[in-house]
Amino acid sequence: MTTPRTVLVTGGNRGIGFAIAERFAAEGHRVAVTARSGEGPEGTLTVRAEMTDSASIDAAFTEVEAQLGPVEVVVANAGITRDTLLMRMSEDDFTEVLDTNLGGTFRVVKRASKGMLKARFGRIVLVSSVVGLYGSAGQANYAASKSGLVGFARSITRELGARGITANVVAPGFIETDMTAVLPEAQQAEYKKSIPAGRYGTAEEVARAITWLASDDAGYISGAVIPVDGGLGMGH
Ligand code: NDP
Repeated sequence: MTTPRTVLVTGGNRGIGFAIAERFAAEGHRVAVTARSGEGPEGTLTVRAEMTDSASIDAAFTEVEAQLGPVEVVVANAGITRDTLLMRMSEDDFTEVLDTNLGGTFRVVKRASKGMLKARFGRIVLVSSVVGLYGSAGQANYAASKSGLVGFARSITRELGARGITANVVAPGFIETDMTAVLPEAQQAEYKKSIPAGRYGTAEEVARAITWLASDDAGYISGAVIPVDGGLGMGH
């Protein structure tokens, strides 16, 4: 049994974020999620936040702190794709993805670090992707945003490591969610052939790695990149 914590998961109304929030709640933690629409799982607190807007992130944290206490575990999960080949990629395609995935993580973690520094305890988990280090044709914007998270987490580890704060990256491979459901069938079959496990992962499998990183058992793990990808990205 791990110490119950106050946990905030961004983008917890669906997909991987929903599963992460569900898992933390099932393990007995006090859980809040951010959502632009919809709600987090039963038993969690839902607050509104837009990842590109620091004022809305600040307000979301303030609400969570008032209702559940200082945030001890933050999972930066919210993210988007705007896939297209480089030659066709607009400035907006690039900056929107970077601003949401990397900029949003910066805003959330910066706000979370205030309380963590005061408490001299914190667990920061960033949701990256196998393509951050593997690369992916048609996803230069997304892959850049996701590999940026690695340098970000490792810098935080160096800055805040002595204050009881860990920062780790989880890099999922292909996971069954809305994000992968939109891919054409043929492309999905092709991807499955390249995954040693021969199948997509589940959001629950990603959630299990994340709750473990936030648990008492993982207190000496920081600056790590943990793949949850059925072996797809081996060697990175
Ligand atoms: P979904 O598309 O199912 O959900 C994305 C979540 O992010 C939603 O809650 C969405 O909120 C939120 N979000 C997006 N943009 C913003 C924004 N500007 N402000 C606030 N919230 C925002 O994605 P997944 O569950 O599949 O992915 C979750 C994370 O996992 C992402 O970071 C993704 O890159 C990563 N990932 C996913 C993989 C997969 O195979 N699915 C593989 C590897 C990594 P709203 O509902 O309001 O849009």
